Amino acid sequence: MSPPPGPEASAAAGRARSQGEAEPRRSAGRKPNGGRAAGPQPGAGSEPPPRVLIVGAGFAGLAALRALRRAPVEILVVDRNNHHTFLPLLYQVATSGLSAQDISQPVRRILRRAPRARFRLADVVGVDLDERVVITAEGDRIAYDVLVLAAGSVTSFFGNAGAARHALGLRDLEDALRLRNRVLDALERAEAAPAGEREKLLGFVLVGGGPTGVELAGALAEMRRHVVGRDFHGLAQDMRVVLVEGRDRLLPGFPAPLCERALAQVQSLGVEVRLGSLVDAVDPDGVSLAGGERIPARTVVWAAGVKGAPVGAPAGALEARSGRIRVTPALHLPGRDDVYAVGDLALVEGAEHLPQMAPVAQQQGRHAAHNVLRRLRGEPALPFAYRRRPAMATIGRNRAVGDVFGVRLSGRIAWWAWLAAHIWFLAGFRNRAVVFVNWAYNWLTYDRGLRAMIGPGARGHP
Ligand SMILES: Cc1cc2nc3c(=O)[nH]c(=O)nc-3n(C[C@H](O)[C@H](O)[C@H](O)COP(=O)(O)OP(=O)(O)OC[C@H]3O[C@@H](n4cnc5c(N)ncnc54)[C@H](O)[C@@H]3O)c2cc1C
Repeated sequence: MSPPPGPEASAAAGRARSQGEAEPRRSAGRKPNGGRAAGPQPGAGSEPPPRVLIVGAGFAGLAALRALRRAPVEILVVDRNNHHTFLPLLYQVATSGLSAQDISQPVRRILRRAPRARFRLADVVGVDLDERVVITAEGDRIAYDVLVLAAGSVTSFFGNAGAARHALGLRDLEDALRLRNRVLDALERAEAAPAGEREKLLGFVLVGGGPTGVELAGALAEMRRHVVGRDFHGLAQDMRVVLVEGRDRLLPGFPAPLCERALAQVQSLGVEVRLGSLVDAVDPDGVSLAGGERIPARTVVWAAGVKGAPVGAPAGALEARSGRIRVTPALHLPGRDDVYAVGDLALVEGAEHLPQMAPVAQQQGRHAAHNVLRRLRGEPALPFAYRRRPAMATIGRNRAVGDVFGVRLSGRIAWWAWLAAHIWFLAGFRNRAVVFVNWAYNWLTYDRGLRAMIGPGARGHP
């Protein structure tokens, strides 16, 4: 294990900061840890505190931030977006149930509760382990004493070029707005389109039967029933929502009886489900399944896989297929306890089976922060152990499934539990209040009113 950052690192940061630089450039050639022995207690005397650099203000990064906010360290959070996004509700933005602002929160606002923390808007594209700097897309080099990589994941098309070109992913707010505009645009055009074109415009294919695919399928089916049926003439009966899953059940991470209930609930909404079906090709006119079936569709959503977000981590640290950073059970790079990777981006030795889900990310972010503090005290890092949390997925109005510590819920009770949990875990009082009001309104009126076509993918917009 390498010792904690000592006087040299902190003094270098302090010098540059006293010259007015926010993120100092470190002198070249400094070796990891500088060959130093365990240094004095962080923040002792006039020594500036060590800098913990957190890349990513998602679930894992913010959990790390919270665990460190009272510690004697300087924290710098770097994110390519100026906001944190509550990803589990992206599908609601994509289906006109909530607005983008309702499920996001400015990072700087979150940092108000962490006076030692600063934020920098930047896209990290490289990490220099020897120099202890991260490199941004603009070419800036930002120094750290300890690095926590929490950049999440991106859509993986598994090398399917047609899917990469023609299908939409759903990983961030831009994706959600693009999908919302695609859906609305297809409906607008379909009313006046000739028969063949209309069939294509009214085909919606969701690839991947995990929570994202299931939730989107349910929401689109409800839109067909309550919005398309009322506001568009003669389209509802021709609109198809098809959910394609390669395995033999939906929600593969859930207990088998809940998978069956989810399947029944989704089918009761009129979603066509293809289990054990692999997508062979995606083109602008639709999807071809490996079994030979052809589904005409202009809107194809790829919710079948993710890979680690590219942050320019050293190639040797990456697991080839998933693009995730391999870390030890203590969540740091092998032999480098000054660099942690957590959340969706991390592949933890001995815990490779852990799902890429918010509770795992939060617990890992917190755990990495505690290990950072242990390191600064000269204590050994401890291995991460996941504490199981409830897993839930909603399928539509009054329909959901949940595995709450072994208690299996489905239908209305699971749906209420899902609503309560999502409002509770949303960041910020405003968002909770607005989401609550929006959902109450949607529930009472059966409506989805946020249908202005603006932003990414809207007409004339790239
Ligand atoms: C549509 C959808 C639905 C989901 N539903 C559920 C659910 O119901 N329940 C559940 O538990 N989990 C769900 N998940 C998974 C869950 O959201 C993730 O597991 C969780 O967000 C991972 O947290 P993270 O901190 O690792 O990454 P994220 O929360 O993705 O945060 C990563 C952060 O890093 C930033 N970033 C990325 N690359 C860079 C870079 N190069 N430079 C700087 N910043 C960068 C991003 O802007 C982002 O802010 C869902 C995910 C999606 C996409």
